[in-house]
Amino acid sequence: MSRPVEEALRAALWPGDPGYDEARRVWNGMIDRRPAVIARCSDAADVAAAVRYATAAGLAVTVRGGGHNVAGLALADDALLIDLSPMRSVEVDPVRRLAVAGGGALLADLDGATTPHGLACPVGVVSETGLGGLALGGGYGWLARKWGLTCDHLTAAEVVLADGSTVRVSEDDRPELLWGLRGGGGNFGVVTEFTLRLRPVDEVWVRSAVYPVEQAGDALRAYRDAMPSQPDDLQLVGAFKRAPAADWIPARLHGQPVLAFTTVWLGAEGGPQAAAELFADCPPAGSFERVMPFAELQAMGDGSEPAGRRYYTTSGYLADLPADAVDVLVRYAVDGLTRYSTIDLGYFRGAVARVDDDATAFPSRDASFICSASAAWDDPAGDEHGRGWAGGLLRDLGPWRSEGSYVNYTQRSGRSAAEVYGAHRYARLAALKAEVDPANMFRGNHNIAPRPL
Ligand code: FAD
Repeated sequence: MSRPVEEALRAALWPGDPGYDEARRVWNGMIDRRPAVIARCSDAADVAAAVRYATAAGLAVTVRGGGHNVAGLALADDALLIDLSPMRSVEVDPVRRLAVAGGGALLADLDGATTPHGLACPVGVVSETGLGGLALGGGYGWLARKWGLTCDHLTAAEVVLADGSTVRVSEDDRPELLWGLRGGGGNFGVVTEFTLRLRPVDEVWVRSAVYPVEQAGDALRAYRDAMPSQPDDLQLVGAFKRAPAADWIPARLHGQPVLAFTTVWLGAEGGPQAAAELFADCPPAGSFERVMPFAELQAMGDGSEPAGRRYYTTSGYLADLPADAVDVLVRYAVDGLTRYSTIDLGYFRGAVARVDDDATAFPSRDASFICSASAAWDDPAGDEHGRGWAGGLLRDLGPWRSEGSYVNYTQRSGRSAAEVYGAHRYARLAALKAEVDPANMFRGNHNIAPRPL
């Protein structure tokens, strides 16, 4: 496995090299950082050699999977960037229902390989997102209520550790490290291969519906009251945004703040019946529904938050959605929702809540709702407003928030990993970190400081 350091850096990009600026670009246009060197890695041996080079040169290390981290954690000034984007291959074993994906695979790579077999791993809703960061932080999407999180499907991994060694991790082999990889983020090493359990998928029924903001309170209350008794095959996500000029949305709402619901029923049959009761007393102003292959649903969110804009994202869990919390959401939708910004409200429970709290490092499985505010704008002059709006919403929802937050949607400065994971889980993560990365080489993340138990 050992490869000379110079060879690992044969495809490296240094400041001034053609391609360097493109390679240091990430999804969030707010992030403009200049690594000392970008090591483009093709396999675990490249990664190991890059880690050894960084140690010898005294460089900090960051890791890039898909580059979609909202906080731009893949990049740091003057660090060595381990760029996994050449490692996007995915192998599928349809009989054992397993996929083995490279550490730099995007969700599109994984879905593209699995869905032709009628299989999928539960992942996120935008196919341009990196599997690496998403899976290591948790990973939720349309299949979460039915099957759980991406990290719940991680059965094994190949990992390059801080000492440059490469290890295989599974339930039988270094189970504590597997536990940490299931939600603890990129703290423990560079995952060069993810082995993921797959689930059967077929066609899905999808309905989009919009409410004018004046009716949003009623619609949110109906959503809150209905979800606890819905079957796991039904997933429903609300989003405040400015209405696009779609032909199924009344023209008077185009460009106005609306509450949009996307309902997904896992199956071609039965969706309309399952959803019929949901908003019976609260009909939308416009709606659109159809049956589509699961693969099409997975690409439906693409382009909604394109790379290069300036983004600021905050997120928190809510145990419930009382009337006062609904009022806060509606207030922020009316006041300050810019052209591209959104407030998303998803409902968890289902399979996510059925996994034992100690089984993975992912926290907060008992939360009901996840709320995230994503401020988006083009002009740097909008930075202050974007930060203030998204940060203010989470602050004002404070009284109803439950413990922890989703590490993959955490951009707010000052939010420590201890707050994300809670004290008990953090202590276990810190002990694991002390074992595998005592010098904290991998700190380009929501960092867990090494601390032996
Ligand atoms: P990167 O920026 O490449 O990396 C993020 C972090 O993960 C870094 O700390 C990096 O070091 C580490 N990392 C990445 N790959 C590896 C690896 N192979 N080994 C070790 N460490 C690694 N999340 C959801 O759960 N569901 C969604 O539906 C969803 N939708 C999203 C849509 C958009 C448009 C965006 C921007 C984000 C979305 N997210 C979603 C959040 C997403 O999970 C995080 O942004 C995640 O960090 C992206 O992973 P990445 O590999 O692209 O990120």
